[in-house]
Amino acid sequence: MASSSYSNNSPCAACKFLRRKCMSDCIFSPYFPPEEPHKFVNVHKIFGASNVSKILNEVLPHQREDAVNSLAYEAEARIKDPVYGCVGAISVLQRQVLRLQKELDAANADLIRYSACSETPTTHHGGSGFYYPWNNHG
Ligand SMILES: [Zn+2]
Repeated sequence: MASSSYSNNSPCAACKFLRRKCMSDCIFSPYFPPEEPHKFVNVHKIFGASNVSKILNEVLPHQREDAVNSLAYEAEARIKDPVYGCVGAISVLQRQVLRLQKELDAANADLIRYSACSETPTTHHGGSGFYYPWNNHG
């Protein structure tokens, strides 16, 4: 089964799915090519074609591709995880950031402790006999 060749007559994935004629000014056609049918199916299932076209009309033309990509990402995440969608991924990553931040703080604290130890030649007995060269009491 050979994949269909490119032609100007083939409707975009959106128009093909919606069974309508793909006009030359179709708002979907630059972003939903016929060879990626699942992209439109997902987005349509989650957001609805009319909402998607509304969003595309509201953003500037150079922002439309990014908007479609984020809609496609969100739709795919929502299909995989109907409860949390992409918030699931965000909260996992946020927890990871918190955990790594704590690890980094601990590592920095260790680093400060070790470098403080190596800079003072005297062992820390704590108390009276500490010599600070910069405190010159004459
Ligand atoms: Zn179209």
